[in-house]
Amino acid sequence: MSRAEVTRRTQLNRSTVGALVSELEDLGLAYETPPEEQAQRGRPSPIVHPNSAVSAIVVNPDVEAITLGVVGLGGVVHTRVRHDLDRKPSPNEAIDLTVQLVRGMKPELESKYRVVGAGLAIPGLVRHRDGLVRRASYLDWTNEPFAENMAEALGLPTYAGNDANVAMISESLYGAARGISNLVYLSGFVVGIGGGVMVGGAPLVGEQGYAAELGHTVVSKGSLRCHCGRVGCLETEVNFVRLRAAIAGDPVDLYDLDALLMNTTDRGLIGEAERQVTILAEAIANLISVFNPEAVLLGGFLGSLEAAFPDLMRHKVDEQSFAPLAENVRIERAALRSSLPLLGSAELAFTPLLRDPAGVTLPVSYAGPPGR
Ligand SMILES: [Zn+2]
Repeated sequence: MSRAEVTRRTQLNRSTVGALVSELEDLGLAYETPPEEQAQRGRPSPIVHPNSAVSAIVVNPDVEAITLGVVGLGGVVHTRVRHDLDRKPSPNEAIDLTVQLVRGMKPELESKYRVVGAGLAIPGLVRHRDGLVRRASYLDWTNEPFAENMAEALGLPTYAGNDANVAMISESLYGAARGISNLVYLSGFVVGIGGGVMVGGAPLVGEQGYAAELGHTVVSKGSLRCHCGRVGCLETEVNFVRLRAAIAGDPVDLYDLDALLMNTTDRGLIGEAERQVTILAEAIANLISVFNPEAVLLGGFLGSLEAAFPDLMRHKVDEQSFAPLAENVRIERAALRSSLPLLGSAELAFTPLLRDPAGVTLPVSYAGPPGR
């Protein structure tokens, strides 16, 4: 943004902003370019950019693949590699594969980027304090000191968070939730539903970091046993695998569901989708009662359900809500798709730097994982 805009938003005076921008430039974190065009009024103001060469390595291990990326300051995805797996990885396999993929990127990592750390997005409960994976049911990981072990293997400071939580952070910084301080985010993965909640502009963390497991809220029509041990969790009822099972033809990818839902005449599929929308709406109505959000954002296949049945969704949410709470809530589809957890994971790794830019010594280069 322009230096004038920085001044406006920070409410600092112009010379202070000028000095701070110079300091960030000296630290290698930002740079300026000449004004793009004559400003409407006042003097033209130079444009301040984050230095996207300052990067984080991000890793998202999941049941079907490990996705690895290099993401620069400002949400620039430099590189993204998806490595498909034929079975779910153990923590050690995930680390070994990550090390191998990072070694493969060594020339560009060494020459192009200044890697400050690694951020991990995990489909499960991640302890805030140290990145311990307390429980990731679908990966079958329990009490794994995953962030610690990854830090040692990569030779980088490493931070971990829940995948849906970091996806919400991405949406909040770069997607549909920009500027929204009170937000409920629900994302439908191939297996399970993840959640995140923003309260007064800050992500809800909870005592240990396990807050906003919104897929494990109970719905009244639920009857199946969930992997968490309870009966009737939202994610057993509103479920991509059950939706896919209702499709008569070839199975579809998570991100190809929209077109199919919007064009199908298959009564079985429509019936199942409508059943899931109704149950999802009940959960949303409950979450609206708890959090009084400005918006409810739906990602993954939940976004497809919203895109295909917006009127039914709205009607069912309103019908099941305490009216004054729901009347102004926007229900929308998330904006970012597959690169989503990557952006948020990078933010985890950038946190110390953003908190104290002058207190972190920027590495000159990253020579890759130690040892051989
Ligand atoms: Zn459950």
